[in-house]
Amino acid sequence: MFETSFIELDSRRYYSNLAYLKSKFAEECEITLVIKGNAYGHGAKEIMGLAQGNDYKSFAVFSADEAFQIYDQRRETDRLMIMGDIDFEQISWAIENGVEFFVNNTEVLICALKTARKLSKQAKIHLEFETGMNRLGFEKDEFPTLFSSLEDYAGDIDIKGVCTHLAGAESMTNFKRIRSQIASFTKICRQLEVKKVSYHQRHVACSAVALRFPKSRYEMIRLGILQYGLWPSHESFIEYITSMGRDLDPLQRIITWKSRVMSTKNVSKGQYIGYGTSFLTNSNRRLAVIPVGYTNGYARALSNQGRVLIRGQQAPVVGTVNMNALTVDVTDIPSVESGDEVVLIGKQGDQTITISSFANFSEQLNYELLSRLPRDIPRIIV
Ligand SMILES: *Cc1c(COP(=O)(O)O)cnc(C)c1O
Repeated sequence: MFETSFIELDSRRYYSNLAYLKSKFAEECEITLVIKGNAYGHGAKEIMGLAQGNDYKSFAVFSADEAFQIYDQRRETDRLMIMGDIDFEQISWAIENGVEFFVNNTEVLICALKTARKLSKQAKIHLEFETGMNRLGFEKDEFPTLFSSLEDYAGDIDIKGVCTHLAGAESMTNFKRIRSQIASFTKICRQLEVKKVSYHQRHVACSAVALRFPKSRYEMIRLGILQYGLWPSHESFIEYITSMGRDLDPLQRIITWKSRVMSTKNVSKGQYIGYGTSFLTNSNRRLAVIPVGYTNGYARALSNQGRVLIRGQQAPVVGTVNMNALTVDVTDIPSVESGDEVVLIGKQGDQTITISSFANFSEQLNYELLSRLPRDIPRIIV
């Protein structure tokens, strides 16, 4: 309640993104919204609530921990799935509560099957296969055990999906690797058919795959970054709008990160600003201090690089970003005073600090920058 900054989520823009994605994909396949990493920093509960209001019913997170944190937000008819980390105790929790989870090796499989039998409740699982990312998923040498276990415990499981994850479809340079992964997946699906393993859906597509490899949308896609109005990469954005013959982004960013001016100060020519000697004034300057630093997710790499908006104008960060504060130069912005609104990311007047500019300066991916925004910054839906 006394936070030094807050994040606004523009519900109207989010609805517009959701509607666009629905119009683009929903006829063909189910859309699962990926809300891991606290919904890429936007706030998982807030985002889930807004999406539910727009008739989205399927949500995915990385870990059992993340699923647990949003479980109360789930409605009876919603699907909630864990795409990654789940340990043995958490498997009981998931089965008892109808939470779906990816099973990606024999150990997890056996545990899931035994637990389901013990609880007399079917485990809702997704079999994840290794196809070349070399991270998670069943390997070929596990198939004999996999098939025999599935047969032995057929009544204890409901195979919601078979899936894999593709390694870097947002970049054209990975084209061959992605194609070969898709080919491996197709082969695995054929093997499952031969073994009469029945399942509900196939899914391999994240945002970039859904855009670039339409045939790989199968029965479900797992959309993360696009719902937040951002693109998997600049390349995928340019390719997409070019292919659609338009030059405007059909998606809209929904996040604005705001703080306020804490104090102002005049500094004469020839003074160093803040810690160390990274910024020397070469004329008389007026500075404003903002109570946001790297502990709040404002990267130290933005020292002498970042920009914020005050009174509709850009103010450059001068000196180093501190743990809890940063200093900006407001000499050219008349009458800045304590309490003035500061926009760290987003729009103010007709100026915008884009996530990509911010991310580039700090050498972070847009995914990284957003998901690192601390949980304790309040998320406010506007
Ligand atoms: C994060 C993730 C996604 C979503 O990726 P986007 O590029 O944000 O669409 C999909 N599937 C898995 C397994 C993921 O971990």
